[in-house]
Amino acid sequence: MMATPHMLAGAALGRLTRRPWLAYPAAFASHFLLDYTPHLDSHALYGVAGGGPTAPEAAIGITDFVVGAALIAWLAWRRADRRVILGGALFGIIIDLVENIPPLGAWFRTWAGTAWLSAWHHALQHNVTPEQWALGVGTQVLVVAIALWALRRRGGRGAATGPRRAPAS
Ligand SMILES: [Zn+2]
Repeated sequence: MMATPHMLAGAALGRLTRRPWLAYPAAFASHFLLDYTPHLDSHALYGVAGGGPTAPEAAIGITDFVVGAALIAWLAWRRADRRVILGGALFGIIIDLVENIPPLGAWFRTWAGTAWLSAWHHALQHNVTPEQWALGVGTQVLVVAIALWALRRRGGRGAATGPRRAPAS
């Protein structure tokens, strides 16, 4: 799945749980669930089976990551719970970052301690064909919409409204 839905889902889990010890493992686990959901991404469109990222794939991947990060920074800005929101977003995308940043990726895929996780991450991908784009795009739009709803929902303890209250002792 693309980076923006992964990061928004992780951020939403941060917002909803408010507890890093709960939010970060949940966001990390959400990554695998979302990759298992039918989706269309730049690898299916421009990738080479078994090869590294192609130029259009890398360009889309970087743009996707920057757009998602900017969106989350904007949503979390001035919120009292921004730390757990940003942490959730990071844990939601971290495995794709580790896999795709060149020196780390090769190490992650080959070192015995992590190779199994990398293999599992690749095996559970449910990429649809470009002809099934409506399904492959629709699932991601739905994830983004639900996450945005959760992040933009009013109320909750993290909302920064007016002067910040003194912490309860
Ligand atoms: Zn992934």
